[in-house]
Amino acid sequence: MRTGPNPHALTSLDALERAGLTDAADRVALEAVAAEFRVRVSPAMAEVASAGVRGQFVPDVRELQVRPEEMVDPIGDGTHAPVPGLTHRYPDRAILHATKTCEVYCRFCFRRETVGDGGPLGAAEFDRVVAYLRATPAVREVIFTGGDPLVLSARRLGTMLDRLEALGTLEVVRFHTRIPVVAPEMVTERLVAVLDRALPVWMVVHVNHPDEITEAAGAALRGLSRAGVPLLSQTVLLRGVNAETGILEALFRRLIRHRVKPYYLHHPDLAKGTGHFRVTLAEGQALMAALRGRLTGIAQPTYVLDIPGGHGKVPVGPGYLRSEGDHWVVTDPQGRAHVYRDL
Ligand code: SF4
Repeated sequence: MRTGPNPHALTSLDALERAGLTDAADRVALEAVAAEFRVRVSPAMAEVASAGVRGQFVPDVRELQVRPEEMVDPIGDGTHAPVPGLTHRYPDRAILHATKTCEVYCRFCFRRETVGDGGPLGAAEFDRVVAYLRATPAVREVIFTGGDPLVLSARRLGTMLDRLEALGTLEVVRFHTRIPVVAPEMVTERLVAVLDRALPVWMVVHVNHPDEITEAAGAALRGLSRAGVPLLSQTVLLRGVNAETGILEALFRRLIRHRVKPYYLHHPDLAKGTGHFRVTLAEGQALMAALRGRLTGIAQPTYVLDIPGGHGKVPVGPGYLRSEGDHWVVTDPQGRAHVYRDL
């Protein structure tokens, strides 16, 4: 069974053109895009013909338009780094940047300026991370992110997890990954076995469009679920990809059918060259309000914004409650207002 990154991924403009994913007429402009932001489309995603999937991975000349409000590090990864490779923003949890590579390079990624540069966290750096966590027992959860942590071999992940588990201070380890969807063949039996351990391993799968959940992705999710890995999902709200009620509803319904609980719907970050993907907060709230009335509660994610500059993530509505003098006014899913009194 093959492990590691898929050697058949499309990583050049030539390969994308041969696969019919880009047009030769755009070549000069796309060279400029590719010089700035990495290109990689996994074989599994190259095979999906849907515009909502292709728009996430195929470079676009609009990426050359950089707006003044866009940032290199929109969520402030670098502002809370006590040791290289670790972001510690909240007392009880820390983010481990286990590698900088991914199996796909998403055109909207908020880490697009840093992903792909360099490989996995080195052994000496991981030693420093472990030492920091040992000295900081308030950290109860380590969140593996990247890049995409599941591009690492099962052996390397197993070693890292063993050392974290041995600390005895962690309650849970969480992985944020796109691999089960964009490269389901990398969810091997060996990987699943490594994740099936006494220290609970949770997984947040990044998925933005229902067409990403292919039959192979469904099988990968099933394997993880069978190993007792609780599955959540994270979606970025993207114009031209999923910013329509019907697409979001189809995505969230498909996720719960695969035992994945929709967790966060992210308002898009202010990453460089991603303005064409961005919706307004009012548009996002309207979509969430529309879903509230037609989608089961277990399929409803929380709509969140990472406050630019590293000030944390907060729910951004829509709100159903407002204070009016001595009472509250509550809005129901159909938009009708009702008075509620505490006493
Ligand atoms: S970090 Fe995630 S969103 Fe960014 S390019 Fe990699 S897989 Fe895509």
